[in-house]
Amino acid sequence: MPQASQELLDTLNLAAAATVVEREFRLADFARLVDRLATADGVAVARMTLRTAGGVPAGELEVCAETLLTCERCLRPMRRTLRSTSQLAFVESEDTPAPADHEAIPGDPRRVNLAGLVEDELLLSLPLIAIHGKGDECIPLASQVSGGAGEGPSSQERRRPFAGLKELLKH
Ligand SMILES: [Zn+2]
Repeated sequence: MPQASQELLDTLNLAAAATVVEREFRLADFARLVDRLATADGVAVARMTLRTAGGVPAGELEVCAETLLTCERCLRPMRRTLRSTSQLAFVESEDTPAPADHEAIPGDPRRVNLAGLVEDELLLSLPLIAIHGKGDECIPLASQVSGGAGEGPSSQERRRPFAGLKELLKH
């Protein structure tokens, strides 16, 4: 799939021809989104199925991205697939009525910034609070600090040199 972070779509023509536009974006190019991620690595895949609805160009935009967030409970990375599907209508101005069940995107329908729409969708798909889900290992910070200090192989190894020293002093 071509990468096209600066591409502007002519949704009038694309809708008239019932075109399906598929693009791949680097997450690193989404400055607002990257602020919320643990790493900027990865891509977002977008597919927009265009058609004319109610006399204006419209599109079903599907967005999917594998992201790494920071768990707010244990501060370790957690995987989260962001996914969304939305019905958009590209209208000339705020006053132009959008077809029912469509979100109006005001602006020049011949110059639609797909990357901006994809980033908006991903931002809306972020969990309100990022916390490891069921089946993931999530260790709250408090027990990460207190746990491990009193037990485990590291403290046993600390004891052993003294045991060895006692043995040496006996002889
Ligand atoms: Zn966690």
